[in-house]
Formats: sequence, structure tokens, C-alpha cells
Amino acid sequence: MRKPIHIMAVGAHILDAEITCGMTLAKHSMLGDKITTVAITAGEGGHPDNIDIETFKKMNIEGATKFAKALGGNFICMNYPDSGVPETEEIYNAFADLIRREKPDIILTHWSESFHEDHSLTSKIVRMGVRRAAYVPSETLPAHFVRSVLYAENWEDAKDFIPFKYVDVTDSFDLWREAVQNIYASTRSTYFDYLGYYDALSLTRGYLAAIHKKDCKRAECFAISEMDRFGQKQIKNDLSFE
Ligand SMILES: [Zn+2]
Repeated sequence: MRKPIHIMAVGAHILDAEITCGMTLAKHSMLGDKITTVAITAGEGGHPDNIDIETFKKMNIEGATKFAKALGGNFICMNYPDSGVPETEEIYNAFADLIRREKPDIILTHWSESFHEDHSLTSKIVRMGVRRAAYVPSETLPAHFVRSVLYAENWEDAKDFIPFKYVDVTDSFDLWREAVQNIYASTRSTYFDYLGYYDALSLTRGYLAAIHKKDCKRAECFAISEMDRFGQKQIKNDLSFE
């Protein structure tokens, strides 16, 4: 049996991580891995007209906590303002400290190119935090090396997104579907049908994954950075597929 790993999923707003890579988190929770979800903001800006901003923020935090608990994990809200994530040294250092404290092996987060500034900034905060947690000395916490950062597929972060890894989530879909509905906007957003879209996306990605894994019905996919892509290149003897 393999040693359990710690997977941390980081979203700009509550629901980002849970809806884009939650099936993968549910799969790893079923495999006995440790799950942590992190939101840079509570996503309070998406409150509907009939719910005031403070009430919605509380509902989102409760929903995200329930989602994490359903996967046997923990939820952390960094509580920066929605649509006002700062691009500062303070936030890079705060995220590096979070990594040093939580010690994740793998981080899943936003792809760098997004039409939502909070999303592209979150991607940058993760990259800066990962580098600092490993290489910039802290007076209070030991260094921590994150093994890998993967970027989840999100329709808002689609520019130049190229899927690299497909994760078979056929068996964890039901756990995810029930857990994610703890978060209000998954099914009740008047702006976008999040649950419907990501349910359908996992099926279309599943068809592609089934080319290589016949019993795969649903998949989530992830991009990797150019540097990781280089690291994963292998020299083969010929051009045949394996
Ligand atoms: Zn978002």
C-alpha cells in the first residue's frame, strides 16, 4: 500500500476549487489521502440580490467547510476581499507560511490565464508561495517542498489551457456531487449552471480518457507548467505510443 499524500486545492473564491477539481479530491479522499481546500476569498461578491453580503459570506464558509468534511478534510479561508485580492509581498509570504504549516505534497489551483483577475492572481500567489516556502528561510517555520503544482480546468481560466493529466473520477463522482451541493452557487447561481457544466465536462473528458482506459466514464483534467512539462519529458527509443 502506498503512503498517503496530502493534496491541497486552492481557489480564488469558495466553489472554484470544489467545482473544478473536487472529483479528484473526492477520489483521493476515498484512497485515504489527506485533503485540504483553501479559498483566498470567501466569494462573497457573488451574493444574490435577496441575500446580503455578510450572510452570504457566512453561508459560503459553512458550505465549503461541509464540503471538506464530507471528504474527511479541512477548509481554510484566507479571507481576502472578493475581487480585491492584493498583489503584495504580504500575501505571497502569508501563503508561503500556510504551505510551511500545512505541508501539502501536491497543490491544485487556477491556470495562470484567466479573465478573472482574482483567479490569475491566485495562480501567481500559489507559485510564489511554493517557491518561498521551499527556498526563502523563515524564522519560525521549517522549509517545505511541494512536489507538484497542477492546474485545474475552469471555463473562466481557459486561455492557453492545455490538458496534460487526465484523472479517472468515475467512482468518486457521486461523493463529489453530493458534497459540492453544500455550496450555494453550485446549483443556485443565476449567472451560470456550475454543477451542470462540470458534470457534463467530466463526461466529455471521460470519453477522451476512455481512449486509453476503457472503463473510464468520467475524468477531470489538469495542465502543468512549462517547467514541469520539461521535467516530465522522456527520451524514448522510437516514436511508438506506449
Ligand atoms: Zn472564482
